[in-house]
Amino acid sequence: MSNKNFDSCVSFHINNGAFLGRIVRLNNVLDKILGKHCYPLDVSAALAETTALATLLSSLLKYEGLFTLQIQGNGPVSLLVADVTSEGKIRACSTYDAEKLASAKALRKTENQIEALPHLVGGGYMAFTVDQGQNTQPYQGVVDLQGKTLTEMALRYFKQSEQIDTTLKLFLKHPEGESDSWLSAGILLQKAPLKGGKTIQESPEDLAQAWEDAEAYIQSLTDNEIFDEGLTSADILYRLFHANNLTLGTEKSYSFRCRCSRDKLLNTLRGFKEDEIESMLEEGKITLTCHFCSEKYVFDKSELSKH
Ligand SMILES: [Zn+2]
Repeated sequence: MSNKNFDSCVSFHINNGAFLGRIVRLNNVLDKILGKHCYPLDVSAALAETTALATLLSSLLKYEGLFTLQIQGNGPVSLLVADVTSEGKIRACSTYDAEKLASAKALRKTENQIEALPHLVGGGYMAFTVDQGQNTQPYQGVVDLQGKTLTEMALRYFKQSEQIDTTLKLFLKHPEGESDSWLSAGILLQKAPLKGGKTIQESPEDLAQAWEDAEAYIQSLTDNEIFDEGLTSADILYRLFHANNLTLGTEKSYSFRCRCSRDKLLNTLRGFKEDEIESMLEEGKITLTCHFCSEKYVFDKSELSKH
């Protein structure tokens, strides 16, 4: 399934610009990413949710380059990575231990259900980085993993590091019944920073009430609504915020693309020591597989010594 209403992020503001938001809905991007791997259902689900969050977070930043969201833990799923280029190209992958995952699920008696991401990753940290190329200082934000859901984990970051009032809801739908497609989505709303002489017309009390109402609207959004193929993201926003002076901003499209290449890998291999190369050789060849897209690259020993 490929749906024109998905794989995009729409920015918006409500209450005369007092609150800024984003809505992301992913489908084809996820099918492409997850189709490149044979992850267990839980790992695919965790990665689909991570990818929606990464897309939302990247859309909040102005950058030229690469945004990466990385969740690293001591649980059966030790790594979840999603990166988003400023051109809207997304890739994602995970590292997990199948045996540990199976035994943890058996212990918790959750073999037939998808567990929330925090159970799978355990303790660790979540990091956001923005790499804008050479001669620029990479931006980084880090928060330790705490919370019952990925949403709670991410909100902790906003509270601690950014100190911006934020509300967020993430959604996930796995292939089931007639649908063989993955869907994930997220909606985020933040209080706009008051700077540059900007004024808000409402009184502080009215504004606090408006924020509470907006949070409640977001929490009322259901899986059925956000994953309704017949609805555009604008339709969903109008349903939620038609009484809040909704203004739509830009819509950005996303697609899957891996940035690996033969040349990049060859360069990396040429940086290896001779004994390291020797240990990787099999019948005079080295085979490398990209973690992100599972593409296999075969190198002949003779290529590695060229300069
Ligand atoms: Zn790749």
